[in-house]
Amino acid sequence: MSPRTKNPDPICSFCGAGPGQYDFIVSGEGGFICGSCIEKASFMLEEFRGRKARSDLSKRYGKDFWTRYKPEHIKRYLDQYVVGQEEAKKVLSVAVYNHYKRISQTFASSRQAEMEVEIEKSNIIIVGETGTGKTLLARTVARLLDVPFAMADATVLTEAGYVGEDVESIIARLLQAADYDVSRAERGIVFIDEIDKIARKGDNPSITRDVSGEGVQQGLLKLLEGSVVHVAPQGGRKHPEQRLVPVNTENILFICGGAFEGLDKIVASRLEQQTIGFRRVSALPPHTTNILSFTTAADLKKFGMIPELLGRLPIITYTEPLTRDILRRILTEPHNALTKQYIALLRMDGIELRFEEEALDAIVQVALDIKLGARGLRSIMEAVMNDLMFELPSQNPKPKEVVITAEYVNQRVERFRRGSRQAA
Ligand code: ADP
Repeated sequence: MSPRTKNPDPICSFCGAGPGQYDFIVSGEGGFICGSCIEKASFMLEEFRGRKARSDLSKRYGKDFWTRYKPEHIKRYLDQYVVGQEEAKKVLSVAVYNHYKRISQTFASSRQAEMEVEIEKSNIIIVGETGTGKTLLARTVARLLDVPFAMADATVLTEAGYVGEDVESIIARLLQAADYDVSRAERGIVFIDEIDKIARKGDNPSITRDVSGEGVQQGLLKLLEGSVVHVAPQGGRKHPEQRLVPVNTENILFICGGAFEGLDKIVASRLEQQTIGFRRVSALPPHTTNILSFTTAADLKKFGMIPELLGRLPIITYTEPLTRDILRRILTEPHNALTKQYIALLRMDGIELRFEEEALDAIVQVALDIKLGARGLRSIMEAVMNDLMFELPSQNPKPKEVVITAEYVNQRVERFRRGSRQAA
């Protein structure tokens, strides 16, 4: 096949266009095809490939997909990895179940679809202190469903054209996580952390306008609404010669998380105001410890999120701060709990590792002191275990059993305690 031909007056074998009626023609074995027929054929090819991809996907996510993972099933799976956070787990399980139901609706025939109620996409916002498991929740759901997962930090996002990552780079990352399978990426889950950091400062746009934050919110809005974005497949910034891949974000589930420092006061003051007419001191039900559980979209708007973006994040849930008890359980209960990991590692060396109860209490105490939540647990465990992990495998003879005591923990973590005292 070659462009043009020695034949001075080639005629398109498909549409019959003659010289003067086309701007481009390609000759093949015994025939010609003009530019506009190439375009039409290419469109048909795309259509065909799209249909095929959809039918492959319907096997994966189609009609029966959502019946496999009922909300209770999703929650039980989350229970294996995430300690506590009962409310967030429930809300997430239902939202995810409905989301994939909605996707299965997109595989219905157009006649069927016309008759059905159109289910709108329900992206989620999780409010809660850093290190309380927001990312872990999103990641774990993605693992259960076997869909690609990508996360991004809203603070590094900028409007297109500025230094930093533009909003679309999130989708490039999702595409990477899907091994460049566009149709898989289009059903993935994206977690955007620190969404609160791009809030406008204050509720009133005309007074204190934070242009960059708002610009990023606008960019995110485009993704959340569902649009076709063109991403550079290898990530990084786009450059003119690069082939860009179109990805439709319509069926991507977005989960946003943020600590929203100060939001509790906004929620509290709204609740107080609501109760003035009833002459009650507080509308808070007794035993309520977490005021963020009452968060509404209006509170988030007051915090500085733009209403359009909130409109695309209709599901609001929260994570509880990690108590001493929860931190303690995180050490031992999850499927891949830190203590279980060390026990498994040393078992490979033929050594049984055991943690005394008081030792676990001591580790939790340090985590509380350094105020890094569950994130601190890992580095504390490293500090406690590292010398042992170094020495034990080559000891001769190897001990059959090693017991970690509170005394040993306290000896090893002095550095952390000093660090936390300095910070205080
Ligand atoms: P966030 O997104 O809220 O800042 P992460 O999900 O990144 O917090 O949590 C950091 C780490 O702390 C997780 O990888 C996990 O090891 C641990 N962690 C936090 N909360 C929990 C929890 N509720 N259950 C089990 N592990 C947790």
